[in-house]
Parts: sequence; structure tokens; C-alpha cells
Amino acid sequence: MKNLNQKFLLRARLPEMRLFWFSLLFLIILLIINIFYLPNFLPIAVLPIFLLLGIIIFINNFRLARLNSEIKIERNELKSIILNFYDGVIAYDSDFKILIFNQAAEKIFNLKAREIIGQNISPEKAREPDLRLLSQVIFSSLAPLVIRRSEPGAYPQIADLSFDEPQIELRVSTNKIIDPKGQLLGFVKLVRDRTREIELLRSKTEFITVASHQLRTPLTGVNWALESLSKQSLSEEQKELVNISLSTVANLSKIVNDLLDVSKIEEGRFGYKFEDIDIIDFIEKIISDIQNSTKQLNNIKIYFQKPEEERQIIISIDTQKLEMALFNLFDNAIRYNVANGQVIVKIEKIKNKPYVQISVKDTGIGIPANQINKIFTKFFRAENAMQFISEGSGLGLYIVKNIIKRHGGEIWVESEIDRGSTFYFTLPTSSKLRQTKEITYDEE
Ligand code: ADP
Repeated sequence: MKNLNQKFLLRARLPEMRLFWFSLLFLIILLIINIFYLPNFLPIAVLPIFLLLGIIIFINNFRLARLNSEIKIERNELKSIILNFYDGVIAYDSDFKILIFNQAAEKIFNLKAREIIGQNISPEKAREPDLRLLSQVIFSSLAPLVIRRSEPGAYPQIADLSFDEPQIELRVSTNKIIDPKGQLLGFVKLVRDRTREIELLRSKTEFITVASHQLRTPLTGVNWALESLSKQSLSEEQKELVNISLSTVANLSKIVNDLLDVSKIEEGRFGYKFEDIDIIDFIEKIISDIQNSTKQLNNIKIYFQKPEEERQIIISIDTQKLEMALFNLFDNAIRYNVANGQVIVKIEKIKNKPYVQISVKDTGIGIPANQINKIFTKFFRAENAMQFISEGSGLGLYIVKNIIKRHGGEIWVESEIDRGSTFYFTLPTSSKLRQTKEITYDEE
């Protein structure tokens, strides 16, 4: 009850209740005038009307006061969430006047909210040392390095911006502020400072690079020793042992090489050299190399379906990297296949688009539907694959995806468990559609 009284008193004092108090005063004065200066029967007739008017005004104003206080509470809560948000929050109107600048943004940009709120930011401000970073984030094309992570024109727009001197790495997500009628009011940017995260990742990658380099030399030595041993006259039992050791060393070397490639990709120095080649001829050669190799193919047949209309499709690729990607896909299609299975490789031009599509279809174990979305992530191996073949690093498809993306293509897979999988990828026929820089594609 005491609580209710307090609430009532609190609301009664709100500005929205002022109209009620004024009207109450006015009604009382009117009533007094009525009582003293008008004939007796009039006050009795007018009193209920005054009473009704008073009640209506009271209810209306009281409701308004309650609603407004709820809105204020919500607004304050929202304000405090934005203020204390872990990421920087900047909002500005369509004239680039800063409206919101939270504490995290103050830290990232080394600016005070009270100084910056209300200022109009223009690209010219990038010349002022204090405002340089902020204007480069608002007009991201001014930033030294921009990597777009979302489709052009789609909102929210996500981009990674890198700055040197000092080294700052930001992930910026930009969204439109639109009123209920769909009119653009401004933009809001969420800015995440990833400088430390990227530094840690770099030192982790460096560690892996050094470790794999160190491992490669002794492995080459062991391999050489085992090969020399296999050429000696050995008993059947000894020969088998040496062969098992040789294949174990080969597996280990593959893992170490894959790790080295992954760290080079993540450091952005995998190093690509593009040249124009006929992609049909290129794939044909890789297939015939696999067919002629001494490796056990488990009686699996590889077929190549070439386009009917074209004899040649010239595109610009890094032959060494694309060979690595194709070899990985073919190797998986063979390894995860059943005995006497098939692998069908197909290349075709995509109609009305400057791309070719290449598919690698197998008749193997397939990929479980609930794990298919993880297939291109680092170290991932599906449960059925692990039971089928114990060796594997789970790095192959991650490397393949990065190679295809660097060429400006896309990669995806369709699969049915125990029926087979088809890996598809595209490559642009125009080098203009290629990525200009090395970007790592991770868990996307
Ligand atoms: P690895 O083959 O060394 O395990 P990959 O990165 O090449 O590594 O493949 C990752 C996982 O994707 C495999 O472990 C397997 O679960 C699945 N996979 C890849 N290719 C196929 C395929 N053709 N058929 C079935 N599963 C596949």
C-alpha cells in the first residue's frame, strides 16, 4: 500500500499531470463562483459535469504520465546498454552528424563523446590527426586496407579495416537507421577492436610455421633412411614393416605440409602467380596423372565430361595452387569411395555468367547432413569418414576453399549418406572478378 502511494505521488508530480492540476484549480474557482454568484439550483446541475470533466482529465493525464515514464525507463536502459556495450557504437544522421558515440568508441578512437557528438564528419576530416581514424571508419574507402565480408549493397555491411602506425585492426558492421515509413535517417556502426585478437592469431600462426618447418627436415631424413632400407634384401616380414613405416612417414609429411600451407594462408602469404591456361586440358592432365600413378585406386573409375560446344576454355589461374585443390578433391573422391566405385568430373560454362563450373561427383560414403556445414572448416572430419579411414588431417578442404575463393570462385557440396557426394566449384572466366588480395576464409 505504501509502495502504491509512493508510485501515485511520484506520477502526480510528473509534468504530464500539470494540465490536470491547472484544470482542477480552474474547476474549483468556477465552482466557487457558481456557489456564490449564481442561483442555487445551478451548482447542483453543474457539479456532476465538473466532476466528470475532472475525472476524464485525471485519467487521461495519469495514463500519459505512466506511458511516458515507461518510455523514459526503456530509453535510459537502452542508452546505458549502448554506453556500456563492449563494441564501439557510432550513430550519425544522413549529414554525417554524430548522434551516438559510446564509451568503447571513445577508447578505440581516442576521442571524447562530448567533443564529437554534434560534429559533422566529412572525408576532409581525415587530414586532421585526431579525427583521421574516425573519418576513415565512417568513409571506409579512405582506410589503407579494406576487406569486405558481406555482399556489396547488402545490409548490415561488414568490413575488416586495417591501419598501420599504429597498427589497428577493426571489424565494422554498418546498418541503416530507417523510420517506420522507410525513410533513411542515418547509419549505425558497430566497431570491434580486433587488434589484440589478430596479434595473438599471428603469433600462433608463426609458431605453427616454425614448428612445421622444424619437423620437415627430420621427416625427410627418416623417409630417406626407410627408402634406402627398402632397397636392401629383406625378409617378407621386414619388407612389410618398412612399407608400413614409409606410408606412416608419408602421412605425417602430408599433415606437416598441410599445416605449413594453412599457416601461410592465414598469414596472407600463400603467394599466387596467375597465368592463362586451357582449363579443360589442365584438368585432363591431372586426371591422367592420377590414373597412371602407382597409388592404389581400389578399382575406382574416373570419367571426365567435357563441354560439348567448347574445345578450349582459357582462364587465368595459379596452376600449382589449383592443381593442389583439384588433387585434394579427386583424392577425397577416391579415398571416401566404395570399391569399384566411380568419380565423374564435369566442366561446363555457366549460362549468361562469366564463370565455369567444375564438379567432382563420387559414389562413396557421403557426408552426414548434420555435419555438412562444417566440412570446409579447419581440422573437421565427419564421423563416418573417421570410421572409414583413420588417417586424415581435416585440413584439405579448408585449403581448397581458400584457393578457390582467391581465384574469385565459390565452392559448395551436395551429399547423400551412403550414396555419394558432389563437390562443385566455380572459377571466373575474367580475371577482373578475381580477389585482389589474399584473404583468409575461415568459419563462414
Ligand atoms: P581429410 O580428408 O584429411 O580428413 P579434408 O579436409 O580433405 O580432410 O576433408 C574433411 C572431411 O570432409 C573428411 O574428413 C570427410 O569427413 C569429408 N569429406 C571430404 N570429401 C569427402 C567425400 N568425397 N566423401 C565423403 N566425405 C568427404
